Amino acid sequence: MSDLRGATEQGYSYCLINIECLPSSSNYNILMDLDEPIEDVFPQLAACLPGCTYIHGAGVMQVMDAGHIIAIHPSRLTITDIGGLDEAAEICRRYYRKICDVRERKDSITPVYEKRPLLSVIEILKLLPRTNCGACDAPSCMAFAAKVFRRECAISKCAPLAEDEEFWNALPEELKNQGA
Ligand code: SF4
Repeated sequence: MSDLRGATEQGYSYCLINIECLPSSSNYNILMDLDEPIEDVFPQLAACLPGCTYIHGAGVMQVMDAGHIIAIHPSRLTITDIGGLDEAAEICRRYYRKICDVRERKDSITPVYEKRPLLSVIEILKLLPRTNCGACDAPSCMAFAAKVFRRECAISKCAPLAEDEEFWNALPEELKNQGA
């Protein structure tokens, strides 16, 4: 692996890592190092990160965000599949602000000590019409279910589902509220 570029901001620094074992990939991973460890607010962070996976004491939590896999360690975040420096700067800034916000509100947040994603890809697929109509621009309902699982798009992009009141109302609330 070779370091590309990065930046030092107040409270954190980051660099982009090119993965040379995947020569066909034009994307990078981010290593984001925090000046102060955050393990003490993991349970509150878990409470505020929709769809994250967290088991207290494991020392890491993971969340999917718009197709990026984000692993949060006590002093470092790793973020996959980044297109370049602008995207890296935006996502690092956003997560640092999120962490600061959780720390500021720590005493008012009910901690969560174990959390898993609500639904698997197959479970999401079972909620779809499964007609492979293509209205969501995905090549199949399975591909669309995977995108929803990775939080790359909202389930409301499946128009046949969103327009069917009975099926829409039966969806789990967290899935309905998940933004694109
Ligand atoms: S719009 Fe819905 S039914 Fe059509 S392919 Fe996409 S997920 Fe499947």
